Amino acid sequence: MTLRFAVIGTGAIGREHIRRCSHTLVGASVVAVNDIDPAAAARAVDQLQIDATVYEDPHALIRAANVDAVLVTSWGPSHEEFVLACIAAGKPVFCEKPLATTAEACRRIVEAEVAHGKRLVQVGFMRSFDEGFRQLKQVIDAGQIGAPLMVHAIHRNPQPAPNYQTSMGITDTLIHELDGLRWLLEDDYKSVQVVFPRSSSQAAAGTRDPQIILLETRQGIRIDVEVFVNCRYGYDVQCQVVGETGVAALPEPAAVSLRSQARFSTPILTDWKDRFIAAYDVELQFFIDALRRGEVQGPSAWDGYAAAVAADACVKAQASGAIEPVELPERPAFYNPH
Ligand code: NAP
Repeated sequence: MTLRFAVIGTGAIGREHIRRCSHTLVGASVVAVNDIDPAAAARAVDQLQIDATVYEDPHALIRAANVDAVLVTSWGPSHEEFVLACIAAGKPVFCEKPLATTAEACRRIVEAEVAHGKRLVQVGFMRSFDEGFRQLKQVIDAGQIGAPLMVHAIHRNPQPAPNYQTSMGITDTLIHELDGLRWLLEDDYKSVQVVFPRSSSQAAAGTRDPQIILLETRQGIRIDVEVFVNCRYGYDVQCQVVGETGVAALPEPAAVSLRSQARFSTPILTDWKDRFIAAYDVELQFFIDALRRGEVQGPSAWDGYAAAVAADACVKAQASGAIEPVELPERPAFYNPH
């Protein structure tokens, strides 16, 4: 059975996901697309050589009888509307991060899904599908470094989006660590503080960059994450976990080391699409395979909500300079791991 997918939002990641569903992965094809700009959707159909209908109305696309599931890859503020419409239509939905732009909006999605009674939402947090992060978790889970005590993490981009605001260092960038470290440590956050070192001269007027986010988990693990979106040299994600008896670090992406002209060097990736290309493949194949078994698994609407609650506290901490509490309610039994 080939699942018939619809895609809302044919920008950068929307086109990437259409390409991988149509030409790389097994078990799904894209039959319908929508973008706020219908010409952009038509261009995607043309350029990616898929046999798909362009819908001007995203809600008609969600309701279409020949659509089995929906990928929401439009910009963040539109996610809530489309995910809620998918739940109302009883259609499984893969929603790119963020699940929604506020914790309250994520909470509404959680409530709608719980009321529906069956999981329909997978959130596009891909760290848990990255081979390096999986190996790191295996080492921790096997007890090879003892109980984790501290995490030192880094998320650097060569340059930010043109409309970058300092808060986007949290909502667009750190959000991956907020989800990924919850998964890695199997813990939730208790409090957060944000400190700003001297700002780079490359940072746009009115923005602060870099920033250091200090998190404490409920078990007392201390985490520092450097977010630096004007680092210029490359796209660089690092994570080191310090445990009671050892230290485990995320492996670097595989790359040829070169000895030439009196230098020993390895290239550094510059594009997030390349750094996590395999993880995106595994993530979407996982969505497809679960759907073919009649299930939705992976990062849940609750995970999207938990990350949003922590992100809200981080944005508050940016402004206050104080240690802010992260107030996440108890997880409903609906979302307990099986
Ligand atoms: P993008 O290139 O701006 O693409 C978004 C597309 O959605 C654009 O074509 C945009 O049209 C369209 N759109 C906006 N509002 C819409 C609406 N109401 N209905 C239909 N289409 C709409 O952005 P992107 O980089 O692909 O990011 C899209 C989403 O994926 C964001 O939530 C982002 O955070 C997420 N993302 C996740 C990852 C990851 O690592 N998991 C990586 C990249 C992006 P206009 O351009 O005309 O506004």
